[in-house]
Amino acid sequence: MRPHFLLSTELCHLHYRSPLYCDGTNNTNTGSVKTTVVGHIGPKPQQQNANPKCVGNIANAIYDNFQEMSKHSREEIRNDGENSWATKYSFCGGVYQSPLDFHGSILQYDSTLKPIQLYGYNASSTDYFTISNNGHTVSMSLLPSMYLEIPPFRYIASQLHFHWGSLADQKGSEHCIGGRRYPAEMHIVHYNSKYADVSTAMEAADGLAVLGILIEIGSFNPSYDKIISQLTNIKYKGQNIQIPGFNVQHLIPERLDEYYRYEGSLTTPPCNPSVLWSVFRNHVFISEEQLLLLETALYCTGQNSSAPIEMVDNYRRLQQEGDRRVSVSFREGIVLAVTLACVLGTVVLTAVTCWLFQRKKRGKETKKVVYSPAVPMEENTSKECPRKMGVHNFNMCFSPM
Ligand SMILES: [Zn+2]
Repeated sequence: MRPHFLLSTELCHLHYRSPLYCDGTNNTNTGSVKTTVVGHIGPKPQQQNANPKCVGNIANAIYDNFQEMSKHSREEIRNDGENSWATKYSFCGGVYQSPLDFHGSILQYDSTLKPIQLYGYNASSTDYFTISNNGHTVSMSLLPSMYLEIPPFRYIASQLHFHWGSLADQKGSEHCIGGRRYPAEMHIVHYNSKYADVSTAMEAADGLAVLGILIEIGSFNPSYDKIISQLTNIKYKGQNIQIPGFNVQHLIPERLDEYYRYEGSLTTPPCNPSVLWSVFRNHVFISEEQLLLLETALYCTGQNSSAPIEMVDNYRRLQQEGDRRVSVSFREGIVLAVTLACVLGTVVLTAVTCWLFQRKKRGKETKKVVYSPAVPMEENTSKECPRKMGVHNFNMCFSPM
């Protein structure tokens, strides 16, 4: 049972940091060398100040609070980076944090997980969505008539936004699968209908439900282009544009029944552990040109800034799962992985046993048959275990002598 938590009054959103890769390395963006990091808190990059970056947030309400902070506070946050989040925002160093890597040992099949039910996602073209550059990501407001149901609650759609990498390394998803990080990730944020709005909901343990969609490079995606084609119109912080409504479900994988589910947090300060995550197993595809635009079009800074900051690598490093388990709605893949591990283990064990048996037997024969006639080489070798034993030949060990 997830612990309830207190309201955090401190909010921040703009910072730079060193991205952590799924394989446990980070890239300081100061060269091609990656530095190995022990644990999930990595060392500060040496040239952080030379290359400040911004990061996405999960709720526009948070951003509004950020705007009210003093200039001094914002600079302080910018210069601190992700490594020091926990010193200012206790949740960031606490439990139930996101994102996670979905790997074998923490996954468990849950037959009670039903297909995610979406309602009102097919918005009319007479409605409008507002696409904004809020200084740390591109977000698109959604209609309150859009919602999903995860019993016993209904969650109302609030906004969607993106996380991505950079030209230097096009790996910018927050969640990873089996240690693999994807080029980008989209989050669709919903809040529990028993709360008045998203800012109130994020203060409650059962406040938010977020859909995670992993984005791969593939063919041109016309639905995603409704957003991506507008990026050049909102290059700078504070800019926004309205577009006609469209079917937001077209941004989501077709299989709504296959997903990872766990209890986690906002991936930006104040890191409230208030999110019920559902990350789809299947990916969506955008073209390389579309990804390139996402990685290069936006700035964290305003149009008149004398020191523009590129909006890149706006994803949080992986967090520790602790005692959490990630529920999985699909059995295929997990069973296959376990089966392969069992088969491999059996092969290795059998091969070792075979080798030991033959070694012992040859030792006995050498002692007993001192003056026996020589045996043809072909016959002799056909019954030995090869030094490099494979699946096809280790069975020879069990043939009659
Ligand atoms: Zn997000």
